[in-house]
Amino acid sequence: MTLRIYNTLSKQIEELKPIDGNEVTMYSCGPTVYDYVHIGNLRTFMMADFLRRTLLFSGYNVKHIKNITDVGHLTQDDIDAGEDKMLKAAKRENKNPYDIAKFYEEAFHEDEAKLHILPANKFTRATEYISQMIELIQRLFEKGYAYESNGSVYYDIDKFEGYGKLSGNALENLKIGARLEANPDKKNPYDLALWLKAGEEHLMKWESPWGVGYPGWHIECSAMSISNLGETLDIHTGGEDNIFPHHENEIAQSEGATGKKFVNYWVHARFLLVNGEKMSKSKGNFYTLKDIENKGFNPLAYRYLCLTAHFQTQMNFTEQSLQDSENALEKLFNFISSIDDQEEGKVLDEYAKKFQAALEDNLDTPRAIALVWELLKNKEISDIDKKVTLLKFDEVLGLGLANVSTIETETLTINIASPENRTITIRNSTGSIISAYILNLIQEREIARIAKDFLTSDRIRDELKEKGYETKDTPEGIEITKIK
Ligand code: AMP
Ligand code: ZN
Repeated sequence: MTLRIYNTLSKQIEELKPIDGNEVTMYSCGPTVYDYVHIGNLRTFMMADFLRRTLLFSGYNVKHIKNITDVGHLTQDDIDAGEDKMLKAAKRENKNPYDIAKFYEEAFHEDEAKLHILPANKFTRATEYISQMIELIQRLFEKGYAYESNGSVYYDIDKFEGYGKLSGNALENLKIGARLEANPDKKNPYDLALWLKAGEEHLMKWESPWGVGYPGWHIECSAMSISNLGETLDIHTGGEDNIFPHHENEIAQSEGATGKKFVNYWVHARFLLVNGEKMSKSKGNFYTLKDIENKGFNPLAYRYLCLTAHFQTQMNFTEQSLQDSENALEKLFNFISSIDDQEEGKVLDEYAKKFQAALEDNLDTPRAIALVWELLKNKEISDIDKKVTLLKFDEVLGLGLANVSTIETETLTINIASPENRTITIRNSTGSIISAYILNLIQEREIARIAKDFLTSDRIRDELKEKGYETKDTPEGIEITKIK
């Protein structure tokens, strides 16, 4: 079987034909590390993870590179204007931009780990590829695409014939759309910045043949992908907003410099929406993974939710949909933990084939999830075979089902400074993490109970129940059981 995937370049679903037989090269645009990523960004990173795991499931080897943008992304990168996002964050937090990058890069890795996103084979930081970017810009000078102006370097878009082939943004549209107050250093307002002259206030800057400056955001991805994966890549991923201008510009730069096709398959995830609008930092309508954990959700419920929507459809985020996903996930966990591992089971071939076929059909994760429930409902199949088959599916789903079975009841002791320092036992055999928010609720309830504020303690008990925790007071302490 072979993977068929929608290619933004051809606007068609195509059969994947890797350049090098069984080896697939894949590059994913990663985060700009000036702040925490939001769950919209994480949806896009998860899509790449579903794709990579599907390829592995189908028997390919995958070399996956993901970049960390730690310099050069401007607040108005569509017109090469505004502030450097890293510099802006450094001012906001009164820190050095390198410390900002380090902090948010770590937070990003933590988020990816919580969502079981396989780490890229290599994470490339833009600041560590400056010399490769300069080299690529030099190649663009040799080919006649680049020009220098007042210490900055621009790409003459008029010279690149194929401009617009990815996004359909024909040069004519660009010309109409270009702003009148355009940068006087550019020959044409729509030319793209390859290298920008650094002002005094700039903290991240490098020597170059054109003076002290810093790279444009687009050249970073061209240099990092070509340096690590060669001049033609199999797959390049990103979110739908990357199509234009970022990926269109990556094509112009890479193909301008090498004369070769840059990417064979462009795969873009559609947005995560809130109330019908794109989730974004600038609109302030975003959630981080921490936010949803603090509300008592298991991060993997968000992974489950993303699996239920096809990557080519925009997904409207609601807490209710996350709650429904958490409930479904808990059902799965409960099934897995209820089946004794002593017995021998087998992967059901028919189901494994259907599962693979769904994923290879343009990464149809909703169909793969539907198959999970179809399998669970099938009365003809033994529970142990169901479990073994689900564990096989989990190689792609990544819901951590293999860990569930090994987790015994957890016992947690919470100390509350009071004469009644009781033990709080939390029975949790579901494998999911009990969030700080829940632990806090449990403590608050205990404090209220001691103070004989039963109105509050009952209200908290009800909230715990709603979140799936049954509370029972015993003479020895409190027993909390995770019930769903
Ligand atoms: P950035 O850090 O802004 O470069 O974004 C990182 C990745 O997240 C890019 O691939 C974006 O296309 C993607 N992205 C940004 N906002 C959303 C959203 N609301 N839904 C899905 N993906 C997004
Ligand atoms: Zn990129």
